[in-house]
Amino acid sequence: MPLDPKLRTALTERVKFYNELGIYDFYRRPVNNNQEEMPVQTIAVEDTPQTALRLIREDLGDCTRCRLHKQGRKQIVFGVGNPEADLMFIGEAPGADEDEQGEPFVGRAGQLLTNMIKAMGLRREDVYIANIIKCRPPGNRTPERDECETCSPFLMRQIEVIKPKVIVALGAVAARTLLAINAPMSELRGHWYDFRGTKLAVTYHPAFLLRDPRQKNEAWKDLQMVMKELGLPMPSKVPE
Ligand code: URA
Repeated sequence: MPLDPKLRTALTERVKFYNELGIYDFYRRPVNNNQEEMPVQTIAVEDTPQTALRLIREDLGDCTRCRLHKQGRKQIVFGVGNPEADLMFIGEAPGADEDEQGEPFVGRAGQLLTNMIKAMGLRREDVYIANIIKCRPPGNRTPERDECETCSPFLMRQIEVIKPKVIVALGAVAARTLLAINAPMSELRGHWYDFRGTKLAVTYHPAFLLRDPRQKNEAWKDLQMVMKELGLPMPSKVPE
């Protein structure tokens, strides 16, 4: 039976994704006429973003693809927020609080990020928040390159589903990984980048702003650039 063209495209994309993960061999399950006995997960082209994100989470499973699964991570921190958000923030990696609660940016840096989002006139639940990698590195060390490379295809799929208008990379690790540029923050900030067809801006990581609050004004300039792009109204006073 010829495949529906939409289903064919969706299947091609899925196979391409697995190839990117290094998986090339596939097998076909025998056709089972009794659907109730053995439900088979198929790709539904009409999936809502919420369902599509759930499928990505299911594909991740109890991930053991990199060494972090045996280095003390408690759980995978997938991402949180509006599956149809116009604005997406991408940080580096979960810390202890995030590992405990299974949600990105819930510790002190997360509180500051939440305040930054509020200062933009938005709520945390309006945006989508994720990290380059989904497991806490031991002692909060910087993620290794191979960990980022193994994990980031899942983030790419999340971005493809959410289709944000703007991505904000929080800090140098997120910016360098997404843009594949090894530049200092002073060079990375203040410009728009094209990230696979989506506008991307770079700002300071909230954890850095906690250590050096004088840079908050600079971060606010970055966020104002984002607000302008999204057509959000500008507040008259600089937020705390
Ligand atoms: N720092 C990050 O980069 N991500 C988090 O989720 C928390 C802290």
